[in-house]
Amino acid sequence: MAKELFLEVVTPQKAVVSEEAQIVVAPGSEGEFGALKGHTTFLTSLKVGTLRYKDMSGSERFLFVNGGFAEVLPDKVTILAESAERRQDIDVQRATDAKTRAEKRITAKAADIDLVRAEAALKRAIHRLTLKGSG
Ligand code: ATP
Repeated sequence: MAKELFLEVVTPQKAVVSEEAQIVVAPGSEGEFGALKGHTTFLTSLKVGTLRYKDMSGSERFLFVNGGFAEVLPDKVTILAESAERRQDIDVQRATDAKTRAEKRITAKAADIDLVRAEAALKRAIHRLTLKGSG
């Protein structure tokens, strides 16, 4: 068994994180949960939100995660998300544009607009901007 807890965050496009962590805190759909090495095995879906972890140097790291699933094993946490990026990689202009686009679609209430999709896009953009603006 590895000495520490290994964290992997994977999306269909890329591996975003692959490193040891002291603790991982993730936005579970039933509420935020923390995992330390030795945690009981469990599987949960995730909400759109922030995942944070402490790396082996003790620095706190933050990522945006667009839902997905977490598998927690005693020595490994695997996050599978539709999209995810580290806080430093969040492009504020892109998220602001996505927010404006989604808001226009929602307020236009046009028949050909997929409201659920626009609301989900708005939620992602707001979370990205909030995470980027915090800390
Ligand atoms: P957009 O409309 O700008 O594409 P989106 O919320 O629809 O936003 P996603 O489907 O969540 O985008 O992500 C697609 C890819 O783009 C992922 O790799 C994600 O990490 C990246 N991405 C999306 N928005 C941003 C952003 N503001 N900054 C950095 N990367 C982003």
